[in-house]
Amino acid sequence: MKQTLLDGLDRLEIALPPERTEQLLAFGEAVLEKNRFMNLTAITDPAQAAELHLLDSLTLLKVLPLAGKSLLDVGTGAGFPGVPLKLAEPSLRLTLLDSLQKRMHWLETEALPTLGVEARFLTGRAEDFAKEQRERYDVVCSRAVARLNLLCELCLPFVHKGGYFLAMKGAQAEEELHEAAKAIRVLGAAYERTEEFEIGGAVHSVIVIHKTGNTPLQYPRSWARMKQKPL
Ligand code: SAM
Repeated sequence: MKQTLLDGLDRLEIALPPERTEQLLAFGEAVLEKNRFMNLTAITDPAQAAELHLLDSLTLLKVLPLAGKSLLDVGTGAGFPGVPLKLAEPSLRLTLLDSLQKRMHWLETEALPTLGVEARFLTGRAEDFAKEQRERYDVVCSRAVARLNLLCELCLPFVHKGGYFLAMKGAQAEEELHEAAKAIRVLGAAYERTEEFEIGGAVHSVIVIHKTGNTPLQYPRSWARMKQKPL
């Protein structure tokens, strides 16, 4: 895991002090260890975990300057991409959100305290937190949660005007972007650019969406309604 992480950091031109690299490795190892008892990830190989979890998460550092920013990770699962970002950039004010109680409990009571890392935890569905946490974050990110048109409705209400939503996508990014054009506009945002990274031999894309206005108060709708009638 260590060599893959170090090689990848070089390749991405991300320079980190050794203690931050060690913390990233400790988190990667903790995820794999816990995964033996709790369903956290399909990845069990340490080198693959370094590539597809740690390095993939860290690509966001190349997309926007994140130092000092408030960042919400929607559907964080086992903590990706939010936790590696916080480990690499400790000034980040991190909030993790997921509806799966067991994963959030592990992150909140075990994984992050062991690493001495502070974060806020929102356990529940994104659409249910949107009222209370509306337009509060500089940056919202999300990986592997939903197709972009639905994901925009889940995530954009949390971003304040002038902030950014970063959607981490695979090879189908272009197609999803096309499908989400109306949602982005209706939710008070504008597509800015897509950044591509080679991760584990495949192209991973980060779609950068700028919040140029406010999200109308009727969004997000219920998940059932979103799925039935996507924007
Ligand atoms: N982002 C992590 C990653 O890339 O490894 C986890 C991805 S996992 C496939 C999807 C996660 O999104 C699950 O943990 C699930 O509970 C969460 N999720 C899906 N829809 C959600 C919603 N509406 N609100 C909160 N969490 C949600």
